[in-house]
Amino acid sequence: MRKKLSLSNPAYRGRFAPSPTGALHFGSLVAAVGSYLDAKHHHGTWLVRMEDLDTPRCVAGAAEDILRTLDAFGLQSDEPVIYQSQRTAAYEEALLKLQAIDAVYPCCCTRKEIADSALHGIEGFVYPGTCRNGMAHQRVTPAWRVRTDQYPSPFPLPPSPIAFVDALQGHISQNLESEIGDFVVKRADGLFAYQLAVVVDDAFQGITHIVRGADLLDSTPRQIYLQRLLGLRIPQYLHLPVAVNNAKEKLSKQTLAAPVDETHPVRTLLRVLEFLQQHPPVELAGYDLKAVLDWAIANWDATKIRGIGTLPAL
Ligand code: GLU
Repeated sequence: MRKKLSLSNPAYRGRFAPSPTGALHFGSLVAAVGSYLDAKHHHGTWLVRMEDLDTPRCVAGAAEDILRTLDAFGLQSDEPVIYQSQRTAAYEEALLKLQAIDAVYPCCCTRKEIADSALHGIEGFVYPGTCRNGMAHQRVTPAWRVRTDQYPSPFPLPPSPIAFVDALQGHISQNLESEIGDFVVKRADGLFAYQLAVVVDDAFQGITHIVRGADLLDSTPRQIYLQRLLGLRIPQYLHLPVAVNNAKEKLSKQTLAAPVDETHPVRTLLRVLEFLQQHPPVELAGYDLKAVLDWAIANWDATKIRGIGTLPAL
């Protein structure tokens, strides 16, 4: 394990939280490098967390593969890697807290029922609230949804719309009720949803700064909403541009993005630094990985990044 720097800054704890659904591709490496450089530039701690919660989507061996690739780029977690598949008790506890303040309700609606009656929001259907006042029909294991309306509550509800200032994307505001709707925190198949798990784990790990791809920008208000309901600290957010292919599709397993080339880590890292508009000097191509990382840490400047939304992968 890497020796801690004596001037380590306790006010900065960042993380990279990949889902082990396949090998790291250029887009996920951008998030890994961006979060690492931002943490290290601020003398902070950088953690890796495996988001292996959606077990049907996880691929055997992918977590080890991702950790090996990160290692090949000199990116090592400062603390032991935690796995969401081991953290169900913590998510259960958070759900109990939400139940205790009546912020969630069981829902038995099928996809089809929702599709038949719902409006479109920014991320699929806006759930019409059918089960808010009790389920229309029973189901052995219902899904659990969070209320996003201003319902009568003895506890102060988070303000609507949810607004925050992203360090790169600026002022963001979202009306959860009309744009997203009551969202699922525990699925009918018994799995906890990403939105709840990420919030519980970021708090558990004392994360202060979240640097990740702008594909998650629309999720952030849901996460802030849950943080407010659960009385958790709200980290600072910085959403990096998302790498897209020639067809302007986000690089992902679905768009068949190629795994990152680990055989030439310096070359690949320089491409990532170019993508992040850090303008590495050309001489760095002849340096070893440690020297390139040291340059990148010392010279990291997130304000150089232009282009919110998406950018073509280099
Ligand atoms: N596990 C999520 C993903 O790979 C990222 C979670 C996050 O950074 O908040 O898309």
